[in-house]
Amino acid sequence: MDEYFFQCPYCWQQISMLVDLSQSNQNYIEDCEICCNPIQITVAIEQQNILSFVAKSMS
Ligand SMILES: [Zn+2]
Repeated sequence: MDEYFFQCPYCWQQISMLVDLSQSNQNYIEDCEICCNPIQITVAIEQQNILSFVAKSMS
């Protein structure tokens, strides 16, 4: 697991989340810990490194 920091697409606060580096491609919904809005997260991982991390609003 690796902690990744990014900006919430709703409130623009920096938040962090744990990323499971053993999975190659991940797509899930995570609620912002500050404004509680649902964020769509898309992560691409190759050889335990995060290639891309995209956080989008659901609306
Ligand atoms: Zn937020």
